[in-house]
Amino acid sequence: SAVLHWFKRDLRVRDNTGLSKAAELAKEKGVGVIGVWLMSPQDWEAHLVSPAKCDFELRSVELLRQELSELDIPLYIETVTERKNVERRLVQLASEWHVKNVFCNLEYEPDELRREERLVRNMLEGGINFSPQHDDCAVPPGVLKTGGGKQYAVYSPWFRQWISYLHSHPHLLDERPIPATNPAGFREKHRHLFDAKVPELPESKSLTDEEKTTLHALWPAGEAAALDRLEHFLAEKVGDYTATRNFPSLNSTGRVSAHHAAGTLAARTSVRSARDANSTKKLDGGKEGVRGWISEVAWRDFYRHVLVHWPYICMNKPFKYEYTNIEWEYNDAHFRAWTKGRTGYPIVDAAMRSLNHTAYMHNRLRMITASFLAKHLLLDWRLGEQYFITNLIDGDFASNNGGWGFSSSTGVDPQPYFRIFNPWLQSERFDLEGTFIRTWVPELKDVVGKAIHNPYADKVASGVAQKNGYPRPIVEHKMARERCLERFKAGIGRE
Ligand code: FAD
Repeated sequence: SAVLHWFKRDLRVRDNTGLSKAAELAKEKGVGVIGVWLMSPQDWEAHLVSPAKCDFELRSVELLRQELSELDIPLYIETVTERKNVERRLVQLASEWHVKNVFCNLEYEPDELRREERLVRNMLEGGINFSPQHDDCAVPPGVLKTGGGKQYAVYSPWFRQWISYLHSHPHLLDERPIPATNPAGFREKHRHLFDAKVPELPESKSLTDEEKTTLHALWPAGEAAALDRLEHFLAEKVGDYTATRNFPSLNSTGRVSAHHAAGTLAARTSVRSARDANSTKKLDGGKEGVRGWISEVAWRDFYRHVLVHWPYICMNKPFKYEYTNIEWEYNDAHFRAWTKGRTGYPIVDAAMRSLNHTAYMHNRLRMITASFLAKHLLLDWRLGEQYFITNLIDGDFASNNGGWGFSSSTGVDPQPYFRIFNPWLQSERFDLEGTFIRTWVPELKDVVGKAIHNPYADKVASGVAQKNGYPRPIVEHKMARERCLERFKAGIGRE
């Protein structure tokens, strides 16, 4: 009987631990591999997955189907409406096909971990071995410990250990072998499994034709596109990464986050490829840009490790529990202005409009807009976290939650609460010429010089802004800063 691999957030053939193990066992037994992908619209709803990301996944699944088919491996695709039925359906399929071994890659959020645990039991009852694999992180969660044997809650010492662990366990970064072609005759015997069609986007996640055109051009899906993007970035841009990564108009970062989130690219592949592009062939030393980029990919591992150790962060709680008592504002008009990019702070507005149009936002801008929501508007950071996840093509619980926790000072290893970004200074520093603002806030495109950062502080610029209907700042900077300091201080004091 065949060996089954259940695809989830690992939509690729190359460097895929679960798939590779499934193929290895199949070869040993002289049988074929079957891939399964079960779509659950209810699961997408429950996790607030953005339409852009759903579409990216569906496009990637189709490309995965084609890649697998070249190896005579079928990808069986089915829609399971209710998410609770997904695991039952998987067990049923395995039994129907007389499969005795099922592989997948672990997902670390509590619901997913519990599901994986149930599956081990339920499959075993039917005589099936279910083997979830560590694959999503370069270093599996749980192995890096402080001197006192605890999980790190601070990035820098964790990162030093992460590097040394990978140097002493180099096999963790080895490329997982690509599956061999299924045995002769497999395709003929199981022809019906090759007929699967990728479903349409469910109505609640639909995109307009215009949105599709934009998103498909910006974010080509599938693993070939991911590897292509990675290769170009490492060949052309990584050298200047440290110097350029904070400037949104330069398009100087890897732009592979959507691939990491859908698993069309493994974090391991990124780290290994960057290491191999380094002059030292190591994760440290050598080129500063390479080192810097590796440390960003490592943040993704860090936030996952944190999530596994402190799963309460998945339950709407801040990592720092003493920050539970902050008294937030309730101001729907402010929240709406923030989402629409109409706060009167040009860098914030440009960033939010770029998110709404491209389903992506540059990291510096994520920090600026998140800080603005939680500190200037003093709105609960969870509103922003939710808005991001429902709109990002790279939406990923751990990284998004980590980023929001960092920027709102309520998370793990955060920005101290008294560090409040001044949006105008951030704008002057990271969008020097106002190029990014001019791209996204056309009302201000005729504003000359530095006034673009804060048009209502300049006589001429304010005339242009007003004429074109650009809003005045919805909160006054100094007042907002003081209010934030007071509220945070009082909230923490109420512990
Ligand atoms: P690069 O600069 O090329 O970095 C390479 C890769 O490293 C990224 O693709 C990503 O996988 C990882 N990475 C980089 N920075 C971080 C980081 N700070 N935390 C975790 N991983 C990182 N990233 C997501 O993938 N999904 C999210 O939902 C998400 N939400 C965020 C929310 C906020 C408020 C903040 C401040 C950051 C968030 N990030 C998120 C992290 C980061 O902004 C994006 O990963 C990055 O902008 C993606 O662009 P890139 O691929 O060009 O990154």
